[in-house]
Amino acid sequence: MSELPHPVTGELFASPVPPGTGWPDDPATDPRTELERLGAEISVCRRCPRLVAWREDVAATKRASFAGEPYWGRPIAGWGSATPRVLVVGLAPAAHGGNRTGRIFTGDRSGDWLFAGLHRVGLARQATSVHAGDGQELIETRMAAAVRCAPPLNRPTTQERDACAPWLEAEVRLVAASVRVIVALGSYGWDATLRTVRALDWEVPRPKPRFGHGAEAVLTGPYGEVLLLGCYHPSQQNTFTGKLTEPMLDDVLGRAARTGRT
Ligand code: SF4
Repeated sequence: MSELPHPVTGELFASPVPPGTGWPDDPATDPRTELERLGAEISVCRRCPRLVAWREDVAATKRASFAGEPYWGRPIAGWGSATPRVLVVGLAPAAHGGNRTGRIFTGDRSGDWLFAGLHRVGLARQATSVHAGDGQELIETRMAAAVRCAPPLNRPTTQERDACAPWLEAEVRLVAASVRVIVALGSYGWDATLRTVRALDWEVPRPKPRFGHGAEAVLTGPYGEVLLLGCYHPSQQNTFTGKLTEPMLDDVLGRAARTGRT
């Protein structure tokens, strides 16, 4: 068991890997890059007592259909290209999705929609994202969550949101040089992105850009302009009701792919 410091507070977090999960005891072993080091630090964070208890309880009790599988039960690091042109910012991992598979948007219905769309526009190698060893690969794209632990009812508290914000700030800082487009999923992802880039002293239009599907805003960071695109979250609530359709998703993701290539 190791201890790692939170990037802002300096608090130390002990690695909580439960026995028998099948994952490495300590993913912080020999990280090769700053981004890997960040991911390792995130994966052992225990700053929010309520979320730590929830994620680990879900991992221990499991959903019946996954009873035979190990659950990750830890925070979810960003995933994808280390030099992305497109950054996708979501809310938080799902209890039986990312919290189970250890990879963002992997193993749940929202991820099925998102990865299928990313594949259709050429930003993902495969149309599905099932588990961390499935061979899926993002193309010039990276995904990160505003809150890295699965929250009960998908609702982190304001304190939990703020506690986790430094992780996204650190991740955006490390990939900013290549990012040309940020796709914000839902109003939560939109607001988290704006808070993050403001904290990094990027220029944000005033008044604050309003979220909507297909909404856009131009942010100015240290490496130039970055297009922020709003996209309805591919939650079952949105996809089952038709609030978000495949053509709508492809419209935004296709725009991100085209802008990212320019
Ligand atoms: Fe740490 Fe973020 Fe998880 Fe809170 S939500 S325990 S800050 S990784």
